[in-house]
Amino acid sequence: MQLPGAPGRRRPPVSHTFSVSSLWTVLLLVVCNFSAAQHVRSLRELSPADITTLALTPDPLKNLDPSNPSSHLAKILIPRPPDTANNTLVREYIVSTLKALKWDVEIDSFVADTPYGKKKMANVIATKDPKAARRVILSAHFDSKFFPSFPESQFLGATDSAAPCAMLLDLAEALDPLLNHRQKLLDEGDEDEEDSETADTTLQLVFFDGEEAYKMWTATDSIYGARHLAEKWEGTYVPSVQARRIHPPGNMLSTIDHLILLDLLGSERPLIRSYYLSTSWLFDAVVSVEKRLLASQSSSFVGDNLQSFFVPRTQLTSQGGFIEDDHIPFLRRGVNILHMITSPFPRVWHTIADDASALHLPTLRRWNLIFRIFVAEYLGLRPPPAGTTTRDDDPSANGHADRSELYQ
Ligand SMILES: [Zn+2]
Repeated sequence: MQLPGAPGRRRPPVSHTFSVSSLWTVLLLVVCNFSAAQHVRSLRELSPADITTLALTPDPLKNLDPSNPSSHLAKILIPRPPDTANNTLVREYIVSTLKALKWDVEIDSFVADTPYGKKKMANVIATKDPKAARRVILSAHFDSKFFPSFPESQFLGATDSAAPCAMLLDLAEALDPLLNHRQKLLDEGDEDEEDSETADTTLQLVFFDGEEAYKMWTATDSIYGARHLAEKWEGTYVPSVQARRIHPPGNMLSTIDHLILLDLLGSERPLIRSYYLSTSWLFDAVVSVEKRLLASQSSSFVGDNLQSFFVPRTQLTSQGGFIEDDHIPFLRRGVNILHMITSPFPRVWHTIADDASALHLPTLRRWNLIFRIFVAEYLGLRPPPAGTTTRDDDPSANGHADRSELYQ
């Protein structure tokens, strides 16, 4: 994969050799795994019928088909380095999509010092219920890597990370009716006791700007947006409306149950590992969702040579190092992290070939279903009773569903 010391955006997992860097890695892992509370809990599994409902509506490929000009992915799949008109276009598309769902959207603007001078950047933070005491964050970076000369300047970053951003928008649209349904049950006092553990937890999406290094990946030339936001939240006290339900009251970081980071997803046969002991149980929960989907024989999970997206977790292989990415500033501040990144990186990584042709549509479809069901189970959500209409109940969605079978 990437040679040590070569220019790059992320560092691959560190092997267990007695180098200074690997020692540092081990120490960091030890510190993080002791400092982060594990919050292990069992997630209530959706019924097969609920899984089928969630797998069909909205159509899981409609939002991720790059040949459909109105798909989320097509809107994001343009060169979009920070502080460019295209970056603003993509950011505004993300904002408008989430505002259409009536989510609370915050733009976290700042100016970053880069090797090319000062650059304006802005993270997007979208929250279903901004008054909730706690949140689970799903995140990805929406900037694409800057290259100074043509043709590399046309780099699209389909896996890096246009597809993960489109997946997050799909997730918001798929789960919004379920979140509304849960709120309705809570308001009516009908929610089960089993679900009370997550009743205070909302879904938040974070789209980071400035993840990519301009030149060489260093501590100061990389993850500009994540470094800014983690530091800002560390210094922000929880608003009193939330603080009364948190013991002890703390800063904004203390209200994050987990930060789940998606990166380099969309190519065929990803391999995802569990990188952190504190979230190994959560990794297992995602694997369980995939296993049940495979067993369900649903159309997206049938085919020859279907391989799991996940590397089986064992005591020996689960802690093989970590990959530097947007989660690091949060990890260092004690936030529990689940890093959904394929390793080795996609073959097209940081080349002009990371375009629509690098994406494998059946894989994108499966990712969408896995995330929908996993996050629904994480938050104790259930699909609303049949007959409830949602904005995605339009007949055209079925057309895309039929068409998607062609990609199997
Ligand atoms: Zn990259």
